[in-house]
Amino acid sequence: MRDQETSAPPTAPHDPRELRDPHDLRDPAVPPVPAVPPVPAVSHLASTFERGSFSLARCSCGWSGPARRSRDRARTDAASHQGAD
Ligand SMILES: [Zn+2]
Repeated sequence: MRDQETSAPPTAPHDPRELRDPHDLRDPAVPPVPAVPPVPAVSHLASTFERGSFSLARCSCGWSGPARRSRDRARTDAASHQGAD
């Protein structure tokens, strides 16, 4: 039955889908990893602390607010700093 081998084409036409890498089927415009929501590189955890008779706002990013005579003022500074980002 060797005559059948010569009569058949040496390279049988395959399904073109088999020749493609399955990874190529994805849209190249779509990044491989899902987009993550933008998160600030530095987290802002502001808090207030007392210095003498003053209250100051301080943040984990290194920011510190002005000295306030009112603790509420310092707390507002901390809140506005966190909200500004
Ligand atoms: Zn901060």
